[in-house]
Amino acid sequence: MTLTRRDFGKIGALSLAARFVPTLDAQASARKTGYAIIGLGRIAGHFMPGVQLTTNSSVTALVSGHPDKAARIAAQYGVPASSIYNYDNFDEIAHNPTVDAVYVALPNSMHAEYTIRAAKAGKHVLCEKPMCTSVADAERMIAACKAANVKLMIAYRCHYEPTNLRAVELIRSGAIGQVQAIESAFGFSIAPGEWRLDKKLAGGGPLYDVGIYCLNACRYLTSEEPENIAAFASVIDKDGRFKEVEENVGWTMRFPSGIVASCNTTYGSNLTGFFRVHGSKGWVQAQPAFNYDGLALAADLNGKMIDEPNPAKDPYQFAPQAEHFSHCIQNNLEPKTPGEEGLRDMRYIAEIYRSAGIAA
Ligand code: NDP
Repeated sequence: MTLTRRDFGKIGALSLAARFVPTLDAQASARKTGYAIIGLGRIAGHFMPGVQLTTNSSVTALVSGHPDKAARIAAQYGVPASSIYNYDNFDEIAHNPTVDAVYVALPNSMHAEYTIRAAKAGKHVLCEKPMCTSVADAERMIAACKAANVKLMIAYRCHYEPTNLRAVELIRSGAIGQVQAIESAFGFSIAPGEWRLDKKLAGGGPLYDVGIYCLNACRYLTSEEPENIAAFASVIDKDGRFKEVEENVGWTMRFPSGIVASCNTTYGSNLTGFFRVHGSKGWVQAQPAFNYDGLALAADLNGKMIDEPNPAKDPYQFAPQAEHFSHCIQNNLEPKTPGEEGLRDMRYIAEIYRSAGIAA
């Protein structure tokens, strides 16, 4: 049998996923979980090829405000014209038996509305991070999915990504001793005109967008919840981009064991996302930690040095994430990153903003 480059990528992604995601189906299920993709933007362009790498999921419908784009993408994924929706007729998806779940890939403040509408249509929901833009919306989303008896998962892809999971495994095994301190940061220099600079759509600045990776990582790396948070925010570049949202946020969290984490996020600098965890017997870091590929882990395990670059290529992270949610739907299991996980981050973001003096 001759393997193509694409086959090789597929095998690589799935074998990596199989090593780290215990619930992954070993074999294709009889019927794949069908996803309607809501919002055909940048992240949807990574998620859909990731779905194609799975054995148990497929793209069966599209929801878009741009019919030409939707028709082009539908042709690519074999989606029939009858399964293309817009934001007005979206609720008709309730009558489409090829759609089991939706993937919400819209601007942040639209996540709550489409999650709740999808739940009312009887569809399971995989919602992009940040879950939404307020604690109240997060609670409404969880309640709507519970009332409709559908599953809700937040697309925290790092929970399904081998380099991040390897760091968690090393820390939990005690290989770096007692964790004492964590540093993490993530940012990029944002272009003017982005919806991410519009508070109504984004909810806030880089904390909602990329700082959330650092916040969430500190929680999965420690398996603890922060008990104290202190934060500062600033705008340095007075070039008109930051009229509504902050440019920089720095925050510190103390966890119950005494671990102290220091995090930074910015829209003013191209800051490759990383974390570095310092323990009593060594350290472990991932840099990059949150990119779509090119991740690299390094560690000092009580004097034994480890260097583990991850050769997997995008969209390798999106396959185990979709595979996990489909597996949960098919086997009636709770996802690893349910709505409650997103709600916790929404509460910590609110706390960080309060401490930094940023109005909700
Ligand atoms: P994009 O701007 O690239 O795409 C968003 C899409 O939403 C648009 O293409 C559009 O799709 C639709 N849309 C509907 N209403 C609006 C509106 N008023 N303004 C802008 N777009 C609208 O954003 P991203 O894909 O970068 O981000 C989408 C979500 O995904 C965000 O919540 C973000 O935080 C998250 N994200 C997650 C990442 C991850 O790694 N997990 C990485 C990047 C983003 P259409 O034209 O089809 O209607």
